[in-house]
Amino acid sequence: MILRIDRIQTDMPPPSDPDPAGAARVQELMGGRFGEMSTLMNYTFQSFNFRNRQGARPFYDLIANIAAEEYGHIELVAVAINTMLTGSTPPANGKPPGDAMKDLKDQAINPHHFLAGGQGALPQDSRGNPWTGDYVFSSGDLVEDLTHNFFLETGARNNKLKVYQMCDHPAARALTGYLLVRGGVHQVAYARAVELLTGADLTKMFPAPRIPTDKIPECQPHIEKGLHKKLYRFSPNDYKEIVAVFTGPHPETGEPLEVVDEAPEGFPPHDLPSQPADYAPEEIKEIAQKLRKKAGLPDEPLGVVASSPENGGGSLTDKVKDKIS
Ligand code: MN
Ligand code: MN
Repeated sequence: MILRIDRIQTDMPPPSDPDPAGAARVQELMGGRFGEMSTLMNYTFQSFNFRNRQGARPFYDLIANIAAEEYGHIELVAVAINTMLTGSTPPANGKPPGDAMKDLKDQAINPHHFLAGGQGALPQDSRGNPWTGDYVFSSGDLVEDLTHNFFLETGARNNKLKVYQMCDHPAARALTGYLLVRGGVHQVAYARAVELLTGADLTKMFPAPRIPTDKIPECQPHIEKGLHKKLYRFSPNDYKEIVAVFTGPHPETGEPLEVVDEAPEGFPPHDLPSQPADYAPEEIKEIAQKLRKKAGLPDEPLGVVASSPENGGGSLTDKVKDKIS
């Protein structure tokens, strides 16, 4: 089972200037071969298909637990894409509909962000191709699967660096800065697992690819918090045997690897404004309010957001921080 927590794993910036062309590129980190849907589904299927779990428990726990973290990564990629698309069509400018998207006509956008969705993330890559289950490798051979996972994390970090280089929107930079650091942890975990199982020392390949994460400004706050050497345990009571594999020195820094015995606290997401004009957010809000009242819920929504368009963007952040701390 998956227990879901309504927080995102890292703090993401509120909407600023829209960047629909950048959002199309960030899609590679969602539905590309080396995207987060691939890491999520590879580890999920490998854990589903894992036989003789009791005989290989630390390795089963490692794969199953990292799968849970990847769920939060696809969520972060979606946050970045949605943030970058916010405000990219300004229909409230009083112009007729034919003019509303004029500014997008010469941009390298993903048309489906507008044609097939409400300016939201899609399970597609940067060329608009849908993610496919063919990207999932689950051979049933543990050494083969772990070696594959090491390679997958290596390719994933490479793609994150490329997206970082191609997009300077603050949401894309915050996303890739965080994911480069976390992907590095998974890469270390799988390398160590292969090493402990076979004696083959993949840790000698680090850093692979040669990304100087410590020189990337958006990586630095996470490295300062030690996030490059910590594996979180994403379950109240399970996956405790990850400590048997995620252990020893970090291959790049020599610091001891650390298992944090709980999920990260997380951050409330920014509540993005309704997409313009083509449905009736005010009416839906009224209906929701009536239903909430009937259900005996309080007037204020129970969910927590970092900021909301209804409350003037970022001004809520501090209030919310008080509420959750
Ligand atoms: Mn990931
Ligand atoms: Mn990963």
